[in-house]
Amino acid sequence: MEWPPQYPDSYRPSPDQEFWSPGLETMVPEQRDRHILGKLQRQVRYAYDNSGFYQEFYRDSPVDPANIGSLEEFAQLPILTKEHIRSEQEEYPPYGRFLCVPPEDIFRVHGTSGTTGRPTVFGIGKDDWDRIAEAHARILWGAGLRPDDTVMVAAVFSLYVGSWGALVGAERLGATCFPFGSGAPGQTERAVEWSAMVKPSVLYGTPSYALYLAETARQMGLDPKEDFGFRFMFFSGEPGASVPATRRLIEETFGCYVVDQGTMAEMTPWMSASGCRHLDGGMHLWQDIVYTEMVDPVSKLNLPLGEEGVPVYSHTERTSQPMIRYWSGDIARWDMVDCPCGRTYPTLVTGIYGRVDDMIIVRGQNVFPSHIEDILRGMDEFGGEFRLVLEREKGQMDRLTVQAEVLARAFVAQEFDPAALEPVRERFTAELRRAIGVSVAVELKPAGEFERTQFKARRIIDLRTP
Ligand SMILES: [Zn+2]
Repeated sequence: MEWPPQYPDSYRPSPDQEFWSPGLETMVPEQRDRHILGKLQRQVRYAYDNSGFYQEFYRDSPVDPANIGSLEEFAQLPILTKEHIRSEQEEYPPYGRFLCVPPEDIFRVHGTSGTTGRPTVFGIGKDDWDRIAEAHARILWGAGLRPDDTVMVAAVFSLYVGSWGALVGAERLGATCFPFGSGAPGQTERAVEWSAMVKPSVLYGTPSYALYLAETARQMGLDPKEDFGFRFMFFSGEPGASVPATRRLIEETFGCYVVDQGTMAEMTPWMSASGCRHLDGGMHLWQDIVYTEMVDPVSKLNLPLGEEGVPVYSHTERTSQPMIRYWSGDIARWDMVDCPCGRTYPTLVTGIYGRVDDMIIVRGQNVFPSHIEDILRGMDEFGGEFRLVLEREKGQMDRLTVQAEVLARAFVAQEFDPAALEPVRERFTAELRRAIGVSVAVELKPAGEFERTQFKARRIIDLRTP
């Protein structure tokens, strides 16, 4: 096996072909496991030989990193966490001893902004960047992107690797790229004007952004379905694209279909979890690109298909800054699904629906914000945004209040009759109780009360004192 694999840039399938790499995408699982093992053996040995970090990290490993014999042995290597990256990069700035190439071979520097701690830095070599482009082109092909499409990348162009990853994949595929960006004042109004003028066929951003774009368009007197030309949208960064009601809302608003994508910036090619043009919610795990294991959040042992756990990701063809068995902190369930596309990958059946840290425990019941979002979007009076307020009184259990916007017409009724909203509030309360299994308090707010976001929505307000 040639490692790292070389991919000729001249290759492109014919537009009527379903698969970019038919052999890799339809392998029988046992054959794929052998293929992945071959790549991981070389990836781990390479990292061990070239990185001071991995030499130290694997010192007490129960298996020989220079000679991994099976996927079960691979699963005995220690799990890498964000804390490992932070402390290593603090001690050996800026990349830590993850870097396996000379610093002058780094082609791109990306990172995370560090909103929850020290920023993390990724140095990406040119060959790795080309392989990221190839992987993303292949996955976007599965999502339905073709060279005659125009892709509007409506996400911020900065350290954030999401937008660049989308751009480089669409470029490699041969599509027309429209790197619009987001986040500057007034840019959403401009996005409405440009979408109506250029009529891109594909949009990349976050689900929150797509809904915000539609709201802004309507305020400007445009109809997102009639005046734009979006055929499909692919999203990352939020669970929304696999939240059934949010997904449906975006599809109906724009008259398009939606593809959910995304693992983590650290794991770029981050599209290795991605739906296809046939899958109705959820994401296939393109295992030969980035290998995903499902791990129990407490015991840290591997879980079989059908189980819910934390995805743990490994690069399989990274030479600059490889991440091996990286703990995502997300929660998802994996299984085999019979997708009409014919790919034989396991699937995160309902996408990534939360973070281990975001899981709210109300009276012993696990509740995810994405589940509440799904219920609210199914209510006729729902006004588009919500917040979850968590409180704890001394010695008491946690209390969850759902603050939900309702449409203006419902609020107008209240001016004439102060009790007019009560039946609506009762219906919201009953529906939430039925769906999540515990009672939560509901407060109704007028539509527009909460800030709209151009990036990832932050919907939990945690007022608990430790
Ligand atoms: Zn599929």
